[in-house]
Amino acid sequence: MTGWLDLPWADLPASVRVDVLGILAYRKPAIRIPLGDHTVAERVAAVITEVGWSHASDEEYLVAAPLPEVALHILDVDRRTEHHTLELGLLLGYPLCCARAAATAGEEDIDRLAARLGANCDRAGAPQLDPRDYPSGIALVSYIACSPRCPSALRDARAAIGCIDTAIPEVDMSTEPWRTWGQAARTLRTRTTGGAS
Ligand SMILES: [Zn+2]
Repeated sequence: MTGWLDLPWADLPASVRVDVLGILAYRKPAIRIPLGDHTVAERVAAVITEVGWSHASDEEYLVAAPLPEVALHILDVDRRTEHHTLELGLLLGYPLCCARAAATAGEEDIDRLAARLGANCDRAGAPQLDPRDYPSGIALVSYIACSPRCPSALRDARAAIGCIDTAIPEVDMSTEPWRTWGQAARTLRTRTTGGAS
């Protein structure tokens, strides 16, 4: 784990912590960072250059991806007014089933979709994919899974917990992003031990 940890966490939305965990844990191929002001954009861009990725930005977002043409393409898809939820989801590394489910629901319904999945996670006793606290950084995957039991999304969530558990003995858990990641792992790991599966 490298320069990604040097992002200016205090000046970025907490949800960026979930997205960067995705890069480190399950090879999330690109991220889209909402920008507050230009001094933040410059500091974010410096970190992204340092890790060997490229970036493209407009007034609203900075997109980071390994190749400059991919970063530009994602920014371009995101700006389109016509339906682009499926394509954008796939470019940002959502599993196909989850990207499709989000696209079917439509972009306007993203909050309602998150609320419904969260309620289904409660009902299933499977908290790993609960998206309701994503805005405060307490989530293991950076997208809305198609169900609490989606195998692809659960694989990503397990990878995220594994990444955090492996690092815990060696890092200062009182600093960001570790504090938030540690809290996400504690809150959202499977509580059932053995028995039903
Ligand atoms: Zn899925």
